[in-house]
Amino acid sequence: MNTPNLIVAATVAAAEAVTPVKAKEKASHFTITELTRSTTARRQGIDNTPPEQAVKNLHRLIDTVLDPARELFGAPIYVNSGYRCRELNRAVGGAARSYHMSGRAADLNTGSTEGNKRLYEILKTLPHTELIWERGGTWIHVAY
Ligand SMILES: [Zn+2]
Repeated sequence: MNTPNLIVAATVAAAEAVTPVKAKEKASHFTITELTRSTTARRQGIDNTPPEQAVKNLHRLIDTVLDPARELFGAPIYVNSGYRCRELNRAVGGAARSYHMSGRAADLNTGSTEGNKRLYEILKTLPHTELIWERGGTWIHVAY
């Protein structure tokens, strides 16, 4: 008669064991996938898979800048461009020493100039190495 309880206990223990990692992933508003995908890379057949260090940097960017910005902004923030391998960076005309190539930068857009202005003001208050109002506010470049 104890068997069902044991099964429940084992299931709970297993769920608890995986919860910290899952909870952390779920709490984030941004994914490595959305920070590495690129229409240009797909069109030109460029493999934009980030190396381990770039993935670490992207996570640091998400944790330190992007998620806090999303929380303060209170609405979706779209990533136009995040990580770019050297070839992709060249293809999109990125700066030769762009932080995008190490996974330390993201180009953000909220869908409106007004929203971008508000996001820019929020980003000013968060840690960053670079913060650029690009092309009259079409997007915001932030690096950390
Ligand atoms: Zn950029």
